[in-house]
Amino acid sequence: MEVVKKDIRALSKVQLREFFISRGEQAFRGNQVYEWLWQKSAHSFEGMTNLTKATRAMLEQHFVINHIKVDAMQRSSDGTIKNAVKLHDGLIVESVLIPTETRTTACVSSQVGCSLDCKFCATARLKRMRNLNPDEIYDQVVAIDRQSRLYFDRPLSNIVFMGMGEPLMNYPNVLKAIDKITSEEGLGMSPKRITVSTSGVPKMIKKMADEEVKFNLAVSLHSAIDAVRTQIMPFNATFPLKDLREALIHWYQKTRKKITYEYVVWQGINDRKEDIEALVKFCRFAPAKVNLIEYNPIDDGQFQQAPEEVIQNYVRALEANGIVVTIRRSRGKDIDAACGQLANKA
Ligand code: SAH
Repeated sequence: MEVVKKDIRALSKVQLREFFISRGEQAFRGNQVYEWLWQKSAHSFEGMTNLTKATRAMLEQHFVINHIKVDAMQRSSDGTIKNAVKLHDGLIVESVLIPTETRTTACVSSQVGCSLDCKFCATARLKRMRNLNPDEIYDQVVAIDRQSRLYFDRPLSNIVFMGMGEPLMNYPNVLKAIDKITSEEGLGMSPKRITVSTSGVPKMIKKMADEEVKFNLAVSLHSAIDAVRTQIMPFNATFPLKDLREALIHWYQKTRKKITYEYVVWQGINDRKEDIEALVKFCRFAPAKVNLIEYNPIDDGQFQQAPEEVIQNYVRALEANGIVVTIRRSRGKDIDAACGQLANKA
């Protein structure tokens, strides 16, 4: 009878050690294999040269090593690279490398499609197919780190979970991926260089706070008024601002980490004085900074970025209240690689 081979990368180090013990071999073989799989990103058992031939053959019999494959790569005129990443079951997600003078940032996906229904986001139009496994998230980072070294002659410096999907709806796998990214047996990156962006799932924000995670939190706020937010992010009806606020206060109390609010200003939606006032007030609940994001049009013109003067009104009001505000210009727009444009179009 043919054995159904398991994905070896779904095993923890402890499970790998146990596997070897169960086969009458020494536990440290598990550590060696783990190192091959994660630190060295081995694609085959054959290359695991510190194992005997017999051990390699035995592993081959029981397991497969699933890896993502960068199926297509597009380069923007501004240097941004968008990858279409094929998963072992043929589904595709996208991840983006964003270079600046001093940094290279990887923008990675956490789900195939998305279950949320933000009206302004292209990914929302793709049905959520499944969560990504920890290794599929990790591999996107490894692929971008390689591209960064190859094209920009430096390692990856930052990671943002701002690709496809809602990371907090796939929290256990996102956390496992971050553990691998930050561990010495993985990429050894500092969690301070990682940002998880969420549309705001209060229960999960609280959980992250209780676990005292060390990475950064960004919240896609877009409005601090329930009626407005629900209109553009309908799940706000289930997770209203009051609950979000409470979770964010808890986050700050536990982690002492400032929160970043991502915010797009749209004409006729959140461009009024009361919208600005509500945001300023919301920023007082817990230390925060605001990232005003440029809108990347995805469609028929239902959403339009507000004129520069409205954006400057936001900046002035926030600064007058001592809140740090930055304006984020889009990158990679010409290849649909900018925020909210990831929709497997290429
Ligand atoms: N689901 C997560 C992460 C993915 S979206 C979240 O909601 O945070 C990453 C960021 O891009 C979010 O702040 C999102 O609100 C923003 N975004 C989505 N569509 C956009 C668009 N068309 N233009 C600009 N930003 C967009």
